[in-house]
Amino acid sequence: MSQAGAKKINLLDMSSEKMKAFLQERGEKPFRATQLIKWLHQHQAESLDQMTNISKAMRANLAEIAEIRLPEVVLDKASADGTHKWVLRLADGNCIEMVFIPESDRGTLCVSSQVGCALDCTFCSTARQGFSRNLTVGEIIGQLWIAKKTLQPDPLGNRVVSNVVMMGMGEPLLNFENVIDAMSLMLDDNAYGLSKRRVTLSTSGVIPAMDRMRERIDVSLAVSLHAPNDELRDKLVPVNKKYPIKDLIAACHRFLDGKAAREHITMEYVMLDGVNDSDEHARELIQTLKGLSVKVNLIPFNPFPETRYKRSSNNRIHRFYEILNNAGMVVMTRKTRGDDIDAACGQLAGQVNDRSRRTIHFAKMEQETS
Ligand code: SAH
Repeated sequence: MSQAGAKKINLLDMSSEKMKAFLQERGEKPFRATQLIKWLHQHQAESLDQMTNISKAMRANLAEIAEIRLPEVVLDKASADGTHKWVLRLADGNCIEMVFIPESDRGTLCVSSQVGCALDCTFCSTARQGFSRNLTVGEIIGQLWIAKKTLQPDPLGNRVVSNVVMMGMGEPLLNFENVIDAMSLMLDDNAYGLSKRRVTLSTSGVIPAMDRMRERIDVSLAVSLHAPNDELRDKLVPVNKKYPIKDLIAACHRFLDGKAAREHITMEYVMLDGVNDSDEHARELIQTLKGLSVKVNLIPFNPFPETRYKRSSNNRIHRFYEILNNAGMVVMTRKTRGDDIDAACGQLAGQVNDRSRRTIHFAKMEQETS
């Protein structure tokens, strides 16, 4: 049957399981799926012609209905500290961003899951652009594909991207199926083979999806808490009105039940000057998290134009840290990285997708890169 006019299937949209089912429908053996997944994600083939252990007939057959569609890199900025930020343009013209943060013992890629975000957290720049759409599996895993391809290999042969955090634009649990399939490729030994401890999904706390996720995949979880009580969290993370802290903590307990990869949950806490950073807030946070196995990650707020918030002072962050630490909690303070290229947390793609201003910003970016 002719497929003329119809959009071809993107082979990057398929997890191993989906690839098996797809090929089986076409009368191919399951091992062909493994071969294809390896070609796509390990050898990073950009066309079917490169897949030399697959017969010409099968390749020709596939080429009629399928292709390899990757996001297009429109900007690749490297910071003085080694941080990278890419702007990627999708087939429909929308843009997303991803960030790579190298550290001595790891390389972390921060991946986006949606164009924009529907959740409206008041301190997040992605929220300002509203929600456009979910990313496809190919657009999510395509980010890791591109990072792996473009980053220089480590001289010791270590993985350059060793960790992935779903902490870019969007709420990953509101793009559930695609995020699960993309993460399954991250873990898949025939694809990226990352350790389940090194793949982390960050959520603002969409409780029903947290429960479903635990049934489907074994990865690490981070929760954007940001406040010790509902009154304050309602203001910072409005989804809290639907899924309040008590229920969220109960969902975290359910999540940790059982599996080895889930020894703790990371609690993210953005440090906002005069808003959530007092001694009293720290003491309240200890009570809120009592009995739950957590690591608290204090994130210095990253300001962006037109925000009403300010970053807490280093002294304040240190004091907050000490109160938690003295109570026996595991706490860390996130280093701010890539400030010089706006690659920091919560600053992603606001500038590119703001609908009314998209053209202007593009013109500006293209000037910057030329
Ligand atoms: N929607 C998901 C993932 C994206 S945000 C979530 O809410 O977890 C990833 C992390 O960056 C979250 O903890 C988020 O609260 C934090 N963040 C957002 N904007 C920020 C900013 N301006 N400064 C510091 N952290 C920010």
